[in-house]
Amino acid sequence: MFEKSIKAYEEACEVIPGGVDSPVRAFKSVGGTPPFIEKGKGAYLYDVDGNKYVDFVQSWGPLIFGHCDKDIEDAVIETTKKGLSFGAPTLLETQLANEIVEMFDNIGKVRFVSSGTEAVMSAIRLARGVTGKNDIVKFEGCYHGHSDSLLVQAGSGMATFGSPSSPGVPADLTKHTLLCEYNNIENLKKCFEDSSDIACIIIEPIAGNMGLVPASDEFLATCRELCDKNGALLIFDEVMSGFRASLKGASGILKTQADILTFGKVIGAGMPVGAFAASKEIMSNLSPEGKIYQAGTLSGNPVAMAAGLVSLKKLKANPKIYDELNQKALKLVNGLKKIANENNISLQVNTRGSMFGFFFCEESPTNFKEVGKCDFKRFATFHHEMIKKGFYFACSQYEAGFMCTEITNEDIEACLEAASIVMKNL
Ligand code: PMP
Repeated sequence: MFEKSIKAYEEACEVIPGGVDSPVRAFKSVGGTPPFIEKGKGAYLYDVDGNKYVDFVQSWGPLIFGHCDKDIEDAVIETTKKGLSFGAPTLLETQLANEIVEMFDNIGKVRFVSSGTEAVMSAIRLARGVTGKNDIVKFEGCYHGHSDSLLVQAGSGMATFGSPSSPGVPADLTKHTLLCEYNNIENLKKCFEDSSDIACIIIEPIAGNMGLVPASDEFLATCRELCDKNGALLIFDEVMSGFRASLKGASGILKTQADILTFGKVIGAGMPVGAFAASKEIMSNLSPEGKIYQAGTLSGNPVAMAAGLVSLKKLKANPKIYDELNQKALKLVNGLKKIANENNISLQVNTRGSMFGFFFCEESPTNFKEVGKCDFKRFATFHHEMIKKGFYFACSQYEAGFMCTEITNEDIEACLEAASIVMKNL
């Protein structure tokens, strides 16, 4: 059933490293060949072999309204007709910035970039520039893009100077990255005792890159308190949770608020875009208003802005969407858990708004190490069998899943029916 994909993958491997432009797409953690996608429509993906899947990935988050939403498609086509890029200001950028600024009390200005990686990298430069400090605190299992200083390997769980997790990243570039354990308050406090040079804490307040693992309220409150006491800034990386966990992302459902927010793919509704935002005071330090340099030829690209603007307006017009998406996410993961239990399989599940996650393990993980104890073999088999039955889940237990408005209750019921067959043999 995957003949054309297998051939396409072999051909791609000849000219693209590993056959893919982003490693997760190669299905390395579950094995097998990734289906090559021909098109998407609403809830569904269609591969080059003509297989149809219910898409629980939705381009890793951006497509809240599913594939080829008519309003977004129209805006993209109309904007495209006027030109793809000018490298000059457009009204669309201010319009989208206004839509974002008016949503958050703690945000006065936004700058657009072209990816989540860029957004986070720039936010960290801003934090360092504003505080005049060098160290950054990052948590094991949180992913913040592939810039050098953030590619830091999990250590012992104790705060430690980070060591690079990729060849090509000199240790000198990660020595200012302090690694702490997610949801571990004592560990974080110790980190602040050990360094007086901390510019910022960067955190996924709802982590989606070790499966879906939310930070506890108490842990986030400690992040806030330690930043305030020590002259550091708190950055919420909402590249994944922004406009997904709720209309206002994680910030909309958590008590703790950050100084700087980073956004990504979701605001572009599928177009390449990212953004970082903070108070007017903080953001005014950016060039050309201030001295901290940051730039991008394609930043604020009109087509991406147009897509984001329509998507955000649609979300704002119907805030109930998040409850509806969460109901569907709950129906899916609770259904999976029930089936797993009937088959004597332990499954832990989480949802936040339209995001969901499930882990084959005995207890709900609260940090990266605990996620590492899950049954990855079982996940791989589940993933394979579900793909064969037409259900496209994220290809790693370290990834979250995403619901879209186009996935129907019938799609979910069909998925559960398939899962009940698959789980019998897991
Ligand atoms: N931060 C988070 C929380 C992410 O999930 C991602 C990507 N999944 C990034 C940053 C990097 O974004 P991009 O892949 O657009 O560079």
